[in-house]
Amino acid sequence: MKDLKLAGLKAERSAIEVKGVTIGGKEIILIGGPCAVESSIQMSQSAETVKKAGGKILRGGVFKPRTSPYSFQGLGREGLNYLVQAAKEQDLLCVTEVIDAPSLELVVDQIDIIQIGARNMQNFELLKMAGKIKKPIILKRGLSATIEEWLLAAEYIMSAGNPNVILCERGIRTYEPSTRNTLDISAVGVAKELSHLPVIVDPSHAAGRRDLIASLSKAAIASGADGLLIEMHPNPAEAVSDGPQSLHPEQFIQLAGELGVVARSVNRIFVHGVHKNEETLESLRDQIDDIDQTIIEQLAARMQIVNKIADQKRLDRVKDSPREREVIQRLIKLSNELELPSELVKKIYPLIFEVAVQSQIKRKLVREQELDLSLVEHLGSK
Ligand code: PEP
Ligand code: MN
Repeated sequence: MKDLKLAGLKAERSAIEVKGVTIGGKEIILIGGPCAVESSIQMSQSAETVKKAGGKILRGGVFKPRTSPYSFQGLGREGLNYLVQAAKEQDLLCVTEVIDAPSLELVVDQIDIIQIGARNMQNFELLKMAGKIKKPIILKRGLSATIEEWLLAAEYIMSAGNPNVILCERGIRTYEPSTRNTLDISAVGVAKELSHLPVIVDPSHAAGRRDLIASLSKAAIASGADGLLIEMHPNPAEAVSDGPQSLHPEQFIQLAGELGVVARSVNRIFVHGVHKNEETLESLRDQIDDIDQTIIEQLAARMQIVNKIADQKRLDRVKDSPREREVIQRLIKLSNELELPSELVKKIYPLIFEVAVQSQIKRKLVREQELDLSLVEHLGSK
């Protein structure tokens, strides 16, 4: 794919930062809200649910590109105000779809992230316009688009000047009628192999039915997605669009509570429902589990460096007491600044050094043995 000059894979994956929320980092980002913005109350209730669940971004369509011209087309400017206001109330970011130049112009200054929908994925003029702004673009995969076409659509936006593209897999047309579309879960991995851009998954438009959303969301995280875009409505039975696939608020919150464990299993983080006033034992323990995982990962990374250092030391100089004392002094000072009992440093670090020294000695002895053996072989062959 030689034309993926900007979207193609590079040494580092891109993480897109918007007002303190990073898409494509370690944390899984949850986006939720109704298909269409209908009223102010509907949006404030949705925002409350997203916040409770630990979501970071509120969604809601104000321009709806509907399959039938007789279906609800969106509230436009009025709906935009409801969306922006509700997001603000809960300190969430907001995303909405644009369909043409006037809608883009209307929303661009008020919305944090712009969505280009599946039906417009190959609207090349719209892609070029999206390339002229700096706000991140969620680019949905077209109904029948190949991964290559989807990535080339991203390339259109990027080559027009906007590097902040988030790919969104939302299901493709297949011959299978039991779901609205077929979630192409392998597209997440393929897109990530071909491109450095973050990839999120929308299970709602893929499934078209709410009973599958939880399992597809978990599969998406397990497959490497950086985030989820899920439709949720305060009262799905009354929704003007996509009611059957919209989660009830309590289902959305319950699902969010189940995502952390899946995220951890693939070395990612999702912290659900953290509220200053509503810190439950469970959510606090989730946070501790995430931190513990990071501590062990960092210790493992430290050990790898320790082993590299071994190759640069003489066997009789593996233990370096002055350096150990210096490190401990520095960390005691740091722990005092962070109000962490310095006893912890005094107890843990001698043990870390001990294990490191043992590992270095072992490694050096193995190396020396290997050298001896190859010398014997060398002499033997002469
Ligand atoms: C939407 O997100 O509401 C939407 C219309 O999605 P898609 O473009 O994926 O059909
Ligand atoms: Mn929808």
